[in-house]
Amino acid sequence: MPFKALNLSEPVLRGVQAAGYSDPTPIQLRAIPIVLGGGDVIGSAQTGTGKTAAFALPILTKLGHHGKARVLVLEPTRELAAQVETAFRDFARFTDLRTVAIFGGVGYGNQRAELRRGVDIIVATPGRLMDYLKEGTLSLRDINTLVLDEVDHMLDMGFLPVVKDIIGRCPRERQTLLFSATVPPEIQAIASFALRNPTRIEVGVARTVNESVKHALYPVGYAQKFDLLLALLEKTDFDSVLVFSRTKHGADKIARRLKAANHSVAVLHANRSQNQRMEALAGFKSGKYEVMVATDIAARGIDVAGVSHVINYDVPEKPEDYVHRIGRTGRAQAVGDAFTLVTPENAGDIRDIQRFIGAKIPELRLEGFPYGPFTPRPEQPPQQRESRHQAAQHPRDGDRRGGWNRFGGRGRR
Ligand code: AMP
Repeated sequence: MPFKALNLSEPVLRGVQAAGYSDPTPIQLRAIPIVLGGGDVIGSAQTGTGKTAAFALPILTKLGHHGKARVLVLEPTRELAAQVETAFRDFARFTDLRTVAIFGGVGYGNQRAELRRGVDIIVATPGRLMDYLKEGTLSLRDINTLVLDEVDHMLDMGFLPVVKDIIGRCPRERQTLLFSATVPPEIQAIASFALRNPTRIEVGVARTVNESVKHALYPVGYAQKFDLLLALLEKTDFDSVLVFSRTKHGADKIARRLKAANHSVAVLHANRSQNQRMEALAGFKSGKYEVMVATDIAARGIDVAGVSHVINYDVPEKPEDYVHRIGRTGRAQAVGDAFTLVTPENAGDIRDIQRFIGAKIPELRLEGFPYGPFTPRPEQPPQQRESRHQAAQHPRDGDRRGGWNRFGGRGRR
């Protein structure tokens, strides 16, 4: 079924065409008619499935023309808020509808000015939005559509109390759309509190990983992890590579060593300043940097076109993070490879991941690599460890405007 058959408005259809989409993805096919019909939705879908357009297109169609602030979209991170706002703005380019991205990290001035000028769609992270609500710059009294996006990440980041507060400030009569890769009982509870007779849509179920991605485990001794990463980068024909580290400190260290080996490297984690993060992402997307080293939280949901490889330098701590990381490659029909470096102490994590995705990941050896003994990571004194809490600490509610998902550049070949 083409987009034309979905009852989207003419200017929105033109926006879709300008975005270069030819056919709707499965979640778009299922969600668009329900959203147009005014129903509430619980969508379990990851980023990479076309989820943003699945809610943005019918919402824009229903809004029609510029008026009051009628749509609120909540996102867990500033990167996601920026990305989703850009998507709305792109799809709305042939309408007179106005969007704003609200998040912390930079000044309040521009955001206040835009709010005062009048917007139809607010895409926000909870913290900064709350600031405006408390000071009275913004009211949610005209909101008729509330989108709670990536709710599982909001939960991970401890945002749920603020999110509940924000929901409570929206009119009761409204349409609510909730998206979450997984729907554990805590999220079901939020859904019962915020949604009315929702339709459940499960697409690209969270446990499956994109079939166009080729996975491999690369067992290696702890002492040779970095050498193997270098050798993989050397031997692989890649366009742009995302390297995942479990900790911020680890990410910095990997980046330093890759730079020393003459790779052009960007780093993305929560301790970097907003400007550094913007520069890293834009540079990675434009092809200035061929490698981006990131932590899970920082990379969550970001849409980087043209990521050809994901390398898990560290095995993710939670099985679902494996799926999130791998989701960065092979998006929207592209083909990608996902390599995971595995040291002996990761055996249990790998078992959990394989159980979670319901598939066995093949083990490979890199030909010509001078493998030494497969020794595990030496025990560290406790003070040297970066705790899980520190490692996963969410970025301060930061601010930026503008689009990251349109660059899609190529790196070295
Ligand atoms: P999302 O799941 O919303 O993060 O979208 C993932 C990627 O797929 C983004 O780069 C979108 O621009 C792209 N995309 C979304 N819908 C379509 C479509 N119908 N056809 C082609 N690409 C799409």
